[in-house]
Amino acid sequence: MADAIAVLNAGSSSLKFSLFGIVGGALELTARGQAEGLYTSPRFVARDRDGKILDAKDWGDGVKLGHEGALYYLFSHADLGDQRLIGVGHRVVHGGLMFDRSVRIDASVLAALEKYVPLAPLHQPHNLASIRALLISAPQLPQVACFDTAFHRDQPEVEQAFALPRAITEKGVRRYGFHGLSYEYITQVLSVCDRRAAQGKTVIMHLGNGASMCAVANGRSVASTMGFTAVDGLPMGTRCGALDSGVLLYLMDELGMDARAIEDTLYRQSGLLGVSGISSDMRVLEASTEPGAKAAIDLFIHRIGRELGGLAAALGGLDAMVFTAGIGENSAMLRERVCRAAGWLGVELDLEANHAGGPRISTAESRVAVWVIPTNEELMIAQHTRAVLAGDQVTMAMAADVNPGLQ
Ligand code: AMP
Repeated sequence: MADAIAVLNAGSSSLKFSLFGIVGGALELTARGQAEGLYTSPRFVARDRDGKILDAKDWGDGVKLGHEGALYYLFSHADLGDQRLIGVGHRVVHGGLMFDRSVRIDASVLAALEKYVPLAPLHQPHNLASIRALLISAPQLPQVACFDTAFHRDQPEVEQAFALPRAITEKGVRRYGFHGLSYEYITQVLSVCDRRAAQGKTVIMHLGNGASMCAVANGRSVASTMGFTAVDGLPMGTRCGALDSGVLLYLMDELGMDARAIEDTLYRQSGLLGVSGISSDMRVLEASTEPGAKAAIDLFIHRIGRELGGLAAALGGLDAMVFTAGIGENSAMLRERVCRAAGWLGVELDLEANHAGGPRISTAESRVAVWVIPTNEELMIAQHTRAVLAGDQVTMAMAADVNPGLQ
């Protein structure tokens, strides 16, 4: 009987899962799926790796299934075939200053992670709800927390600090950076497909509904666009990105908005959606002829270009760029415009390769190598979980699992 690892990614009203079998020492995806609308109209679907539906259920409107109910359904219905579940890896958005690597969860780790809820109130409570529910319903099942912040923990102090009074900094108000599991995965793939980039100065652009960029030197994060929260940096689907903090005072003093109204505006009504007035979905904006759609795309690309310059400065040069996540992997138009704007850094785009989706989309002469690499945060979590359960150090040795098929 083969061992298997489940990966859970809990959002505010959803629970995504993947199941990885350990086959011949390597991790292989065997099933994935999600439960959505957990507090309004829950629906569940699980598919095998070829997309065939294994199980689907709709609870109907007005049902509050919650994270606990979804977990119970998932684990009581999961058909593992001839696989034995040896552990569960959770995506946990915030590991604060304490956790610079993945960790086996027990009551004391859970208590430490609760302290970071105020630092990530929109994500952390849901991540922890799933952990808590499993600790109660399956206390014998090993659980591992894998953090979006851990990859950035070693950034230089000047990158992590805000220019705020020390007493506020000491409360944990500093730049943490997020999307770390995605960046770590990409650095692993680079170590297989482009050694120069892996050992050099690379900017990775995770451009999805959430969007951020990270400067990586010799495989380590040195700067990132997201800071204290996941609303900083680039404009995103519905998040505003970097904002003059004076705007917050204006919203409070002149528009009479309270904290919750501001939160709703900055996290859910801004970004591509707010600027376009049409949609947060890049596919819809690309297909639209409305001026608002063009304005949103122009702003997104402009900010990517500005951040790229800043991150190249933090690195002191640039050897490679990587596009990843929904927009980065799929929008040839956006990649082309970002690369054209980055011509001053030595980027030369191969138009044909870009339209074909890569993986390498720069010309042979380009000083900067440009790649399109699909991210795989779930595999990263499964790798970490396996390594923690085996008592190993989580190291780049895990690159052995990566089979990017890029060469
Ligand atoms: P993610 O959060 O990584 O799933 O990415 C979601 C984003 O990717 C959404 O804005 C989608 O519009 C965008 N996206 C997905 N497919 C495409 C595509 N073919 N062209 C442009 N954008 C896309």
